[in-house]
Amino acid sequence: MMYTIALISGDGIGPDVIGPAVEVLDAVGDKYGHTFHYVELAAGGKAVDAVGEPLPAGTLEAVKQCDALLLGAVGGPRWDTLPGHLRPERALLGLRAGLGVFANFRPAALFPQLRGACPLKDEVLGNSDGKPGFDLLIVRELTGGLYFGERGRRDGNRSAFDTEAYSWDEIDRVLRRGYDAALSRRKKLCVVDKANVLESSRLWREVAAETAKDYPAVETSYMYVDNCAMQLIRNPGQFDVLVTSNLFGDILSDEASALAGSIGMLPSASLGSPDETGRVRGIYEPIHGSAPDLAGKDTANPLGAILSAGMMLRYSFGLEREAEAVSGAVSAVLDAGLRTQDLAGKSGRPEKIVGTKAMGEGVLHFLENF
Ligand code: NAD
Repeated sequence: MMYTIALISGDGIGPDVIGPAVEVLDAVGDKYGHTFHYVELAAGGKAVDAVGEPLPAGTLEAVKQCDALLLGAVGGPRWDTLPGHLRPERALLGLRAGLGVFANFRPAALFPQLRGACPLKDEVLGNSDGKPGFDLLIVRELTGGLYFGERGRRDGNRSAFDTEAYSWDEIDRVLRRGYDAALSRRKKLCVVDKANVLESSRLWREVAAETAKDYPAVETSYMYVDNCAMQLIRNPGQFDVLVTSNLFGDILSDEASALAGSIGMLPSASLGSPDETGRVRGIYEPIHGSAPDLAGKDTANPLGAILSAGMMLRYSFGLEREAEAVSGAVSAVLDAGLRTQDLAGKSGRPEKIVGTKAMGEGVLHFLENF
């Protein structure tokens, strides 16, 4: 098959980590008989410098013509003093809105080789369905709720309000993305809310009870968000897929990412609904920013970007075996002791500290075995 991928490598370490991710995609293509065609596009600080705006209309239109978008990171100190509408990060909001992606997938898994990077004690870390550590996926609603609800000031500026508002359809569509993901994982889905207090959360539960009927193979449970925040550090191995609102997902996904070690390890996907051909639009990006301190120094960890490319294979192209090969090669490179600087000294065994490029080459080497 042939797939067209929009590439926005962006600013800072964006190009450093997207380069190895593209090499991995090409190697997957060679091995499994797919062709990936890339369309390189500008957004973020580079676009501000070139054409005076963070998301040129031509970039958005070109991304819409592609099968998926792989993005590095945008932003940096040289654009920090610009007015809000010209800030590089504004490009991200424009891309999300323009592509209609509403479900943010943030997996957080602990590679056993990075045990030392997880702040939890052994007895807390426990088991995830028989395996040490945890492997969970937070699905955060991305385009509704408190961050988009009515807001304002009143009483002569002495009070302020924000509104948590969700429609049945908004809740249903993000739950369906979560259920679809659960089907290819451990088939457990937990709806995280505050239904003991919030009316909007009670609607989440009503919708979930209906949507769940279409997914009888998945076990559905419910948890209050305050308990969930605690359970993530008391027993993260109990979770498979968690689906939650924009606000709760924002907070819980950062909490979960801190359990998995370095920010450089973690991928993400932002997905829309399948179109009439079954194609799922997606933006795939590592969760880290542009890390200007590391830009161009061949020290950034490229594994988050590589794993994001793996998520693209799984969720936009339906290439499960190929996605597994990418995670397998990442695990193998960690087994072999290769570590970028951010992971150094966290495994308690012999390590070889390598740069961005060598880490990417290590993944390519081990991809041969899958
Ligand atoms: P950051 O994620 O760029 O960096 C935080 C820390 O993590 C830094 O110490 C950095 O060196 C380290 N780090 C990040 N990625 C790493 C990697 N791959 N390997 C090793 N170490 C890594 O966050 P920040 O410093 O708050 O933001 C820097 C810039 O990035 C800002 O302009 C911010 O607005 C932007 N940003 C962009 C995105 C995005 O494009 N999605 C996300 C977050 C921040």
